[in-house]
Amino acid sequence: MSALLSENPLLQACTLPPFDAIQAEHIEPALDSQLATNRQRVEQLLLNEAIGADQFLASMEQWDDELAQLWSPVGHLQGVSNSEAMRLAYDACLPKLTAYATEMGQNTGLYRAYKRIKEREDFASLSEARRRSVENALRDFTLSGIALDAASQQRFGAIQQRVAQLSTQFSNNVLDASMGWSKHISDVSDLVGVPAAAVQGYAEAAAEKGLVGYSISLDIPAYLPVLQYGDSRELRQEMYLAYNTRASDQGPGAGQWDNSAVMQELLALRHELAALLGYNNYAEYSLATKMADTPAQVESFLMDLAEQSRAVASADFEELAQFAEQQGQGSLAAWDIPYYSEKLRLQKYALSQEELRPYFPVDKVIAGMFEVVNRLYGIDISPDEAQCWHPDVRFYQLRSNGQPIAQFYLDLYAREHKRGGAWMDDCRVRRSLSDGAVQLPVAYLTCNFTAPTKDLPSLLTHNEVTTLFHEFGHGLHHMLSEVDCPGVSGINGVPWDAVELPSQFLENWCWQKEVIPLISGHYQSGEALPMELLDKMLAAKNFQAGMQMVRQLELGLFDFRLHRDFDPAAPVPIAEVLARVRDQVAVFKVPKENRFQHGFSHIFAGGYAAGYYSYKWAEVLSADAFSRFEEEGIFNASTGASFQTQILQRGGVQEPMALFINFRGREPSVEALLRHSGIRSEEC
Ligand code: ZN
Repeated sequence: MSALLSENPLLQACTLPPFDAIQAEHIEPALDSQLATNRQRVEQLLLNEAIGADQFLASMEQWDDELAQLWSPVGHLQGVSNSEAMRLAYDACLPKLTAYATEMGQNTGLYRAYKRIKEREDFASLSEARRRSVENALRDFTLSGIALDAASQQRFGAIQQRVAQLSTQFSNNVLDASMGWSKHISDVSDLVGVPAAAVQGYAEAAAEKGLVGYSISLDIPAYLPVLQYGDSRELRQEMYLAYNTRASDQGPGAGQWDNSAVMQELLALRHELAALLGYNNYAEYSLATKMADTPAQVESFLMDLAEQSRAVASADFEELAQFAEQQGQGSLAAWDIPYYSEKLRLQKYALSQEELRPYFPVDKVIAGMFEVVNRLYGIDISPDEAQCWHPDVRFYQLRSNGQPIAQFYLDLYAREHKRGGAWMDDCRVRRSLSDGAVQLPVAYLTCNFTAPTKDLPSLLTHNEVTTLFHEFGHGLHHMLSEVDCPGVSGINGVPWDAVELPSQFLENWCWQKEVIPLISGHYQSGEALPMELLDKMLAAKNFQAGMQMVRQLELGLFDFRLHRDFDPAAPVPIAEVLARVRDQVAVFKVPKENRFQHGFSHIFAGGYAAGYYSYKWAEVLSADAFSRFEEEGIFNASTGASFQTQILQRGGVQEPMALFINFRGREPSVEALLRHSGIRSEEC
């Protein structure tokens, strides 16, 4: 056993993961061994009452990092190079990791040790980062119920378990209700207007069921083409009602997978959990770990945006209604809106993402993006060497003033056994080592672009270019960190209503006329994207921005008020909370059967309860941060240095509001977002 462990590549100290050597069979034994070692170490550490605060924290950081370094390539390979053996090993390990985390989060000895550190006279002598990470640790202990008496602690645990069960049940109901309905069509003339590729998909779906004709499910790729392009109003109405009554007491599956009781119980349990910890409601509990301070602040943030956007949203709707009327559609129902919107979009801006591809070969885009970063932050990026998990993966090094500061893997193309989407993850976090050296940060950047072929380079749509900039923005937040304490280095310890600031911020550069020549060049002629096309893209970007804005605000307000105002003695029906919000902000009426909320998984099955507002919150921050560059020059190096030193290098060391104010000289304002989305004109 020990001989095997001594050869296990996941247990060897190494600067970068040995991707060539890692096999599925290494994973579980390595994790078991590391967890056992860490448990033993923590136990020993807690016996040592004389240990200094710095030494205590350094030990905990070291052991957490050993575990993180072991797990990082495993979690990563699970996403980008998924094999049956790898998945089995991963699935076997996940419960062990969760159990370990829960155990540490509920370890009263550890809690007391952190509390003692906080109360020591020399606490102030610790570094700012270490102080912050101690405070975060204490907050997390408290939020996991550690300070409660035994009976309350037991109730707390029971609530958490039940909440997890209900969330799963909520998703399962939505899934079952979606799968439990489909529309069978035998006459293709009912599908006039729907793109051929979608119709082909319906025919294949029918054939799979042994049916003749077409079968349309409620999965988005099948559902949306009918709503957006189907000329048959009757079919659109039927599909709309089936989709928007899923898992409810209405529509074709009424009562069969009804989430009503699940939602009520979830709200009551969340409220009780928050009350056990001393909060007035779940909204307060949610904000304990976020950038926003108080429920009143979130409410006025959302209402302020709503008041400023509603007139433009109404005008958007008015334009749509007039357009539909010209097309012979007198009054617009909910199932007409996507349909006429697509027609209007096409009439106003005949521009497809596919037309843009030839101008964005991936190598040109990447070189241009590096140039942007160089001009902003003086960072040089060059290819570097490392073991990778696939021949297409690239590896780069970042240097500042000639000194290495970070590295990253770039995995660009979609392929089999790789999860879809795009994301940034950390491979190594920046931290100081016991010998005084610094471990430099390393990131994984993953995308799913079309791979090159024999004849064509990989060509990106502008949406994909934006995605690349977005993920690189997260990557820079991780890699430019100057914080040596891992708990608050890079994106660690950054509240999730603030973590999208650096990523959405960097997206702005893809839309600038000065940047387009850097990131575009026709793959045949080398010609940069013509400015007329950029102008068209900019105009199309804000199509129906008012309507989209109030829709997001409706969801944010609904979620927030639902959790803030819940009263266990007299619960207001969920539908009523939503109806009141709609009366205030929506610009068109939905039919009375609409039960959108019964499928709102973000807040009933995901992590967004009393946190859906975060999307808009982060957009406001990134737009406002970018507006300083609009004022001072989008390549102004001293503005770039200011963003780098005040935000990107600072991780979670300070409250994000304080960091933002340091950079912007004032609190965030919604002006820039309203202007960028065309809701407020340039002059105001
Ligand atoms: Zn993001």
